Parts: sequence; structure tokens; C-alpha cells
Amino acid sequence: MATAVLALQGAFIEHERALADVGEPSLELRCAADLSRPFDRLVLPGGESTVQGKLLREEGMLAPLRERIEAGMPVLATCAGLILLARAIAGDGSRESEPRAAQTGPWIGTLDVTVKRNAYGRQLGSFHTTAPVDGIPNVPMTFIRAPFVANVGPAAQAIATVDGHVVAVRQGAQIGLAFHPELDGDRRIHERFVRL
Ligand code: GLN
Repeated sequence: MATAVLALQGAFIEHERALADVGEPSLELRCAADLSRPFDRLVLPGGESTVQGKLLREEGMLAPLRERIEAGMPVLATCAGLILLARAIAGDGSRESEPRAAQTGPWIGTLDVTVKRNAYGRQLGSFHTTAPVDGIPNVPMTFIRAPFVANVGPAAQAIATVDGHVVAVRQGAQIGLAFHPELDGDRRIHERFVRL
């Protein structure tokens, strides 16, 4: 069995490298036909959640992936991936001119959190820090136009905070991160994920 990496847009190759580094084979999901390939866990990479969500819906992958996650398939979602997974999305206020339909999600919607997109504003679009994640000390964290978790519902639990904001959550086998662990050399999060 392998880990499927959603490869519609964004930083999927970096996740494939990280998985290879921890000895986990991966395959790419680009269209609905790929869903019949053998995989038992899923990575949702960073990128642009509106683009990824639209493509997922257009390709007919949204509902099948949602069903498998609801059935317990482990999923590691980073940044835009966290937005795809969230049950609710608080906008950043910059998209009011867009038609409301189809652009905003929620998309997969299995993770009991509300995320705020582009939560750090334009001035602090990207930054780097370190913090513990679920008992793993000093995890390097790269944030790129990142969301944070504005509300953690009862089914989910916060596993990392930065400056008082929740930046990582877990709900059973679903892990959602506002930062990009695949962009730093540290592989402890991928290692833990493939052992879930
Ligand atoms: N700002 C992006 C979004 O809203 C997420 C950025 C990222 O994945 N690095 O989808």
C-alpha cells in the first residue's frame, strides 16, 4: 500500500520527497481514475485551496475522498489542504467581489474546525518559527499565506499553537497543519503520519 498525494496543484512533489525519505511509497491523485489505485492514506498539500477545491469537485474526487476519510483513512493536510479538510471557513475579506457560489467551500469538510484563510494578513505573508507539535519538540514551521484555526470543534483537538493561535489539529486519523512540514528537512511529522 502507498500514500496518495493530491497532485492537482501546489506543493505535492515536496510531500512525495518527504514520504520517500521516511520509506513510504506514494502515488499521485490527478483524476477520478486514480482513486482506484491502491492507497490507504492521503496527503493534501499546500497551494491554493480555491483552485484545488474547484478541481476536486470538477474531477468528481471530492465526494469519494470525503467518504474514505469519514471511513477512517488517515490524512495529513497542510495549509491549503487544511482549508480543504475544514468543516467551516472564515474568509479573509479580500474576495467579496467574487461570486459566492462554488468559490469558498467548505470542500471536504470532515475536520471539525473553522479555519481563517490568509489569517496573518499581507504584511506577514510568510514567516518561519519553531514550536512543539503533539509532543514532538522544536518542529520547524514555515508559514506561507497561511490560515490558522479560529475555532476547534468538540471532535478535534489542538496539537500546536503559535502566538496564541492554533496551527495544528488532530481528529482521529486526520491531521491538519497550517504550516508546511514538507519544506523543512525535519521528517518527524511525516514519520509519525505513516505510522498512524
Ligand atoms: N492562502 C492559501 C489558501 O487560502 C493557502 C496557502 C498555502 O497553502 N501555502 O488556499
